[in-house]
Amino acid sequence: MLRETMLERARSRAAPWDVLVVGGGASGVGVAVDASSRGYDVLLLERGDFGKGTSSRSTKLVHGGVRYLRQGNLALVAESLRERAILRANAPHIVTDRTFVVPAYAAWERAYYGAGLTLYGMLAGRAGFGASRLIGKDEALRRVPALQPRGLRGGVVYHDGQFDDARLLIHLVATAAERGATLLNYARVEAFTRDGAGAVDGAVARDLETGEELAVKAKVVVNAAGPFGDAVRRLVDPGAEPTMTPSQGIHLVFDGAFLGGEDAVLVPRTADGRVLFAIPWHGRVLAGTTDTPIATPVEEPVPLDAEVTLVLETLARYWRNAPQRADVLSAFAGIRPLLRANAGRATSLISREHAIRVEAGRLLTITGGKWTTYRAIAEEVVTRAAALAGLPERRCHTRTLHVHGHDLTARPGDPLAVYGSDAAAIHTLAAAEPSLDRPLHPALPYRAAEVVWAARSEMARTVEDVLARRTRALYLDARAAGEAAPEVARLLGRELARDEAWCAAQVASFRALARAHRLS
Ligand SMILES: Cc1cc2nc3c(=O)[nH]c(=O)nc-3n(C[C@H](O)[C@H](O)[C@H](O)COP(=O)(O)OP(=O)(O)OC[C@H]3O[C@@H](n4cnc5c(N)ncnc54)[C@H](O)[C@@H]3O)c2cc1C
Repeated sequence: MLRETMLERARSRAAPWDVLVVGGGASGVGVAVDASSRGYDVLLLERGDFGKGTSSRSTKLVHGGVRYLRQGNLALVAESLRERAILRANAPHIVTDRTFVVPAYAAWERAYYGAGLTLYGMLAGRAGFGASRLIGKDEALRRVPALQPRGLRGGVVYHDGQFDDARLLIHLVATAAERGATLLNYARVEAFTRDGAGAVDGAVARDLETGEELAVKAKVVVNAAGPFGDAVRRLVDPGAEPTMTPSQGIHLVFDGAFLGGEDAVLVPRTADGRVLFAIPWHGRVLAGTTDTPIATPVEEPVPLDAEVTLVLETLARYWRNAPQRADVLSAFAGIRPLLRANAGRATSLISREHAIRVEAGRLLTITGGKWTTYRAIAEEVVTRAAALAGLPERRCHTRTLHVHGHDLTARPGDPLAVYGSDAAAIHTLAAAEPSLDRPLHPALPYRAAEVVWAARSEMARTVEDVLARRTRALYLDARAAGEAAPEVARLLGRELARDEAWCAAQVASFRALARAHRLS
């Protein structure tokens, strides 16, 4: 995975690509993995870094969706639970089993949520992660010492999947690259070209590092630009009707002590009728999410005050010593590209099911979906795209395709476990150059060797790439991440042969971003 090699391949290929993918999030990279593993020639162009959009800002659950269960959308829940099991089998180093507690403060809640979660388990069938069961007050408090004991009547324990979204994404990029796909970050698609019959037959993109224009031809184009899917469609038809409703969700991150144990908590009903999760994640607690309709998607969404208040107030109702605004280590927002079908209803009621739309002959747009089902969506998209482009029919392999790094021996306590089989190479780097064995910051679980690894093997190009997505420092502790920026810039500058001015500009820009992730 060298950006120079990827760029050269994109630049020099004269023959049309079988499949051109616009967007390097879960949807686009999923398509690249599927299409390349079927033996098609794939080019993926991402305007920012891989995962820069929604795909690095999720709740990090591989789940059927308890919320969809409540809506009675059983087909979506069952499909997601099947995909959950497939993903855990294919990426066991990144997807783990997490035990959840649903606290009950009213007598009916225990029975009601107990019945719902039994159904959840039944829908998973043999793909289940463990049976749910009712628990008493003592066990609920033992599992989650942070819970408010006053009025607590016990609860329900159930199991679901948890993962690191940006880490899975970069390992999927590697999986596609290993199967011959060309994937380029910092390459923005700015226009499409059409053939004599008016069908889309290629794109004009810009390499954002050099400003160079790239003209590429393709037999079919997949628009996987997530919340920006409509903007990409308008490059072909400026009058195209919108297909999605953007909705923002936020998460707040706290010290792990605010949960006090290893179990996650699902708050079944917030003041606005949603579910809220508080989940242990890399030694911290991740609490969210909200669902706020927004007018227009932006590249760097920020939490709204009302959203922060809602999360803090919900925690205050359930927590013994509720965290305060000043306890927030990081606050981040992501945008859901929801299908527009039911526009006008509350966005949390719109189904997460995806849609695939074909326009301008051979432009397929994916709208909606969720991380958990990215593989199934990609399978459907590639089968349709191949038929549209007249590519030779080939079977999908991704149900059993191991994701890069697949490693059943990875130990959960090892800070490098999430790298899977790459962990050994990072240890070797650190052993060869002792200065790389140093922590990046006392409050962060990362070492200098990870920066060098990210630059050499994972196409990290900026300080933000390293601190937001190759590591998750920005989300674990925004202040500490800002303090670590100069050291990361120095290491990255050395790897990428950049000068001091570049390093200084990188530090300034990352620190502005880190400030926007802090509430105090
Ligand atoms: C708050 C929140 C929590 C969520 N939690 C979960 C969860 O726990 N579990 C779950 O399964 N799902 C979850 N989801 C849903 C899941 O995150 C999304 O469905 C998924 O990440 C969408 O991926 P995507 O590739 O479609 O979009 P994105 O990740 O946004 O990717 C689109 C990419 O296209 C790029 N792009 C845009 N325009 C261009 C252009 N002109 N040229 C090149 N590139 C371009 C963007 O830079 C971006 O990287 C959550 C979503 C939100 C918002």
